[in-house]
Amino acid sequence: MTRESRFRACPLCEAICGLDFQFEAQRLVAIRGDDADPFSQGHICPKGNAILDLETDTDRLKHPLRRRGNEWEEIGWDEAFALAGERLAAVQLKHGASAVGVYLGNPNVHHLGHIAYLPPLLRALKTPNVFSASSVDQWPHQLVCAQMYGHQFLLPIPDVDRTDYFLMLGANPLASMGSLMTAPGIARRLKALTARGKLVVVDPRRTETADVASEHVFIRPGTDALFLIGVINVLKRQRPPRLQGYAGKVRDLDVALAALSAFDVEMIAVHTGIAVATIERIACELDAAPRAAVYGRMGVSTQTFGTLTQWLIQLINLYTGNLDREGGVLPNDAAIPLTGEGTAPGARGRWKSRVRGLQEFAGELPVAALVEEIATPGSGQIRALLTSAGNPVLSTPDGRALEAALGTLDFMVSVDVYINETTRHADLILPPASPFTQYHYDLIFNSFAVRRVARVNAPLWPQAGDERADWEIFNALGAAYAQAAGKPFAALPEPAAVIAAGLKRGGSGLDFDELAAAPHGLDLGPLRPNLLTRLQTASGSIECAPSLLLDEVARLKAQIREPMPVDTLRLIGRREIRSNNSWMHNAARLVKGKPRHHLLMHPADLFARGLEDGTTVRMRSRTGAISVEARASETMMPGVVCLPHGFGHQRDGVRLTRAAAVVGASYNDLTDPAALDGASGNAALNGLPVWVEAAS
Ligand code: SF4
Repeated sequence: MTRESRFRACPLCEAICGLDFQFEAQRLVAIRGDDADPFSQGHICPKGNAILDLETDTDRLKHPLRRRGNEWEEIGWDEAFALAGERLAAVQLKHGASAVGVYLGNPNVHHLGHIAYLPPLLRALKTPNVFSASSVDQWPHQLVCAQMYGHQFLLPIPDVDRTDYFLMLGANPLASMGSLMTAPGIARRLKALTARGKLVVVDPRRTETADVASEHVFIRPGTDALFLIGVINVLKRQRPPRLQGYAGKVRDLDVALAALSAFDVEMIAVHTGIAVATIERIACELDAAPRAAVYGRMGVSTQTFGTLTQWLIQLINLYTGNLDREGGVLPNDAAIPLTGEGTAPGARGRWKSRVRGLQEFAGELPVAALVEEIATPGSGQIRALLTSAGNPVLSTPDGRALEAALGTLDFMVSVDVYINETTRHADLILPPASPFTQYHYDLIFNSFAVRRVARVNAPLWPQAGDERADWEIFNALGAAYAQAAGKPFAALPEPAAVIAAGLKRGGSGLDFDELAAAPHGLDLGPLRPNLLTRLQTASGSIECAPSLLLDEVARLKAQIREPMPVDTLRLIGRREIRSNNSWMHNAARLVKGKPRHHLLMHPADLFARGLEDGTTVRMRSRTGAISVEARASETMMPGVVCLPHGFGHQRDGVRLTRAAAVVGASYNDLTDPAALDGASGNAALNGLPVWVEAAS
């Protein structure tokens, strides 16, 4: 039988690989990497292949479900939208706008039908209680960019294909496939980098990326900021900053450097576990490299000094003259920009959370506050919740407490294709049609890509008559809510029109038809300097010493005067190439083979506790406790243990047939809502103090 190829970018992770979807008699039978995609050049990972499982998964919902006690019943779309609109409006009428909360999961940023169509609904709801996976992830990146460059998405991306020296902290792109550095085929890119230059990975675990790096350096969790201060202070001793390329648009670098000068390098070595000579050598190598990039990802964002660390990374790139420079780090001036007119620059502090007084950032509150905002009685308490493509029970701090709180809500509606650990608490589930039935343009990851690329993705097959696309759901939900609440609501046009309007606003000269005629996407060339012309600070300059960050320096100084705890272990997370956070565990292709849930511990730490490799241990934190199988691993820094997130599917009412058989406990049964990055309120998931002992 002849096979027909249809091409489309993979929506499952930040790498946006071009895929070749192969059909026989209109049936999807195979998925390969698209060799003709100029960006991904045929790359595909196991998750890309698992789309076959996703599309044929019998657990996947196709029609709206309404809860009847412990049972679910299918209802029609019109009835479902009317029910959701009326219940949300009724809760707000009785208890005020804050009484409706919203949680948006990570997949929302991967789908145009979510990310472009949610804002009108959120504006109509007008609730301050909006939360998302961003505050268990990259808020520190966004906040630093907002503070220094005037826009949360003026995010410098490592020019991995041209840099000579890459200092990488808290990142494992060989497992995550890139993250805030959209780089399909990252293994190939890093191999080329280590052949022409040097890749240094700083991480408490010798990760898959560290294994292919030129050098790996262990660091104690949560001390990356100290290490980077050490690097800056060595650079300062070497020579003045290289600011010639910034046209005088650099403000207060001297103020920032003065604030950092009081840290003693010997003390930094004690706290980080990195020898003074290593800190000095890395600083000298960075300084000497023709082109260098410093980059830190989730491991450094999700810690108590996450924003401070991201700020120091920017300062080092600036100091060495590698900011906005080819081969250094540069924002991507994408065809549909995330910056400029009509975009949100990343305001902070316009309101605070009700219970703990945590600051808003970019229109959201830290998700670590979600539990208490539902569970604490009083005016402004969340009594109804809308979730979209999210599973906060497994993905946000103290998932067990959140789970209990969800059960107390007056109403919950979830836009999701599964009955998972979170949506099982919903009163109504609205499942979108396959994303492959809709036009798509990746608004986010084209802007974070290591090359300038653009791609309009055409539908691969038609949407069935009784299905509703994500964008149709948000339009209809908004209209139904607005009607019930007596508010105005303007639905957005279909995706093709939204993409065309975005391209027009971007002013790249590209239009929808030109991109639609290029099914493999277009390569627009390497990154190019553009930051200075796009700065959105009030001064028009790079702001090097925001008071928010200077306050964090003072907080760090105060903290290091406290004695270091010696008896506790520090927990860090880990990504696995076959696991995609809390979802994709229902795909047979991904969960087969060896288990991936275990706790990694250094053999000396096991021995010190009288534990053996392979035994089930009890691990507890201030918040909770789990049982998990421990594995001895020399890849771990002594004193540090490592667990993946997204496991823990064995809960009543979950309808994930394969995932239910995947053993493993949830990382977020241990995480602590009180542990936050001081500047942003991002959850400090890494570096969590834990105690491990024999399971009784
Ligand atoms: S690397 Fe990411 S985008 Fe590429 S195939 Fe895998 S999941 Fe899809």
